[in-house]
Amino acid sequence: MLNPSAALDRLRTLPAGPRVLGLVAATPGAWVVGGAVRDALLDLDARELDLVVEGDPTGLLDALGGTVVAHERFGTATVTLPEPGPAGEPLTVDVARARRETYAVPGALPDVEFTTVAEDLHRRDVSVNAIALRPAGEGEPELLAVDGALDDLGAGVLRVLHDRSFADDPTRLWRVARYAARLGFAADAHTTALAARADPRSVSGPRLGSELRLALREPDALAALRAAAALNDGLLPAGLDLDPARLPAALELLSGAGEVRRDLVLLAACARTTDAAALVDWLGHLGFGSRELDIVAAGSRSSTYMPLQRAQTPAEIARAARGVPLEVVALAGGEQARRWIDELRHVGLAITGEDLLGAGVPEGPEVGRRLQAALDQRLDGAIPPGRDAELQAALA
Ligand code: ATP
Ligand code: MG
Repeated sequence: MLNPSAALDRLRTLPAGPRVLGLVAATPGAWVVGGAVRDALLDLDARELDLVVEGDPTGLLDALGGTVVAHERFGTATVTLPEPGPAGEPLTVDVARARRETYAVPGALPDVEFTTVAEDLHRRDVSVNAIALRPAGEGEPELLAVDGALDDLGAGVLRVLHDRSFADDPTRLWRVARYAARLGFAADAHTTALAARADPRSVSGPRLGSELRLALREPDALAALRAAAALNDGLLPAGLDLDPARLPAALELLSGAGEVRRDLVLLAACARTTDAAALVDWLGHLGFGSRELDIVAAGSRSSTYMPLQRAQTPAEIARAARGVPLEVVALAGGEQARRWIDELRHVGLAITGEDLLGAGVPEGPEVGRRLQAALDQRLDGAIPPGRDAELQAALA
């Protein structure tokens, strides 16, 4: 464990890893930092490479090739590499110029000055992320870390690097919560005390919203929310149920349903015990859109489930569920939800409104009513499939 050579071997297995790491080795003052180093040292699969360079990163950016989006103010750039990933997806590498950051106002974006990699590590969130690895041509890679970082990594400890860390940037509370959930790590006592005293309200709603979205995408998102709630009571609204009984069954119902918002299902399931108006205010402040709000609000109220739970025949189930987001239907649960999601929502008619107009039905709401009546009979198995029977049912 914590073997730099083995960690480097792990990083080489990343798509484009050998080429990128070769370029890092060939660029004086260039290092791999952050999550990839942490994960590789833990013998976990790293996700993407973050690089830091002392001085001008232009040479490295040119050598990486592909397309570069640069953020001048922060001395950072995101490179989309020329080679696609294994599934054809774009591969990106973040390249930052080694820098120090100062916060004029708590929670604001930092002011930046360029510096050494060793100093750059000190602006980071937690010690286990303040480790840099530099491949050497043939020999052992070099490792650079803030004091205690390697011990913390070995012991599973999340420790901020200075007492103002959460005040400078309260989004770090969410970062610590995500790492706690993902890695099974825990904040040390001092970090826990600092976290409890921090005030997330100095950060804009949309920035907090993107942190929440990242938490909801974690493999164990509930664990991330529980960790956040334990760290600071301003991150989530009061009264959330962070172990919601309905959630596993709802996610199971949606497992084959294609493009659905599992993150919103999770939020709605947790929110059944909260005040609906406060929930909507909170998500609106965090920059969630109206469709997202509707799903969470509808999914969190049992009144939405009633018609579906009372439905008995397929046509009744369809009438209760049609137009309701699948996420909400899944939270209603039960056999009715399963039938709608797996079967009934796919049932349609072979005829259209055109057929009814052609048969002399006047334009207007009557067309829709008649189509609906035919569909209800199809769903209940009262008519066989096929245009003739449907048309007959619609014109009856
Ligand atoms: P992940 O596996 O989620 O990508 P990561 O540790 O790589 O985790 P990133 O968001 O990719 O996280 O950031 C890369 C590195 O930049 C972090 O490891 C950390 O060192 C630093 N960093 C990112 N955001 C902050 C922040 N708000 N405050 C301090 N350091 C940060
Ligand atoms: Mg990362």
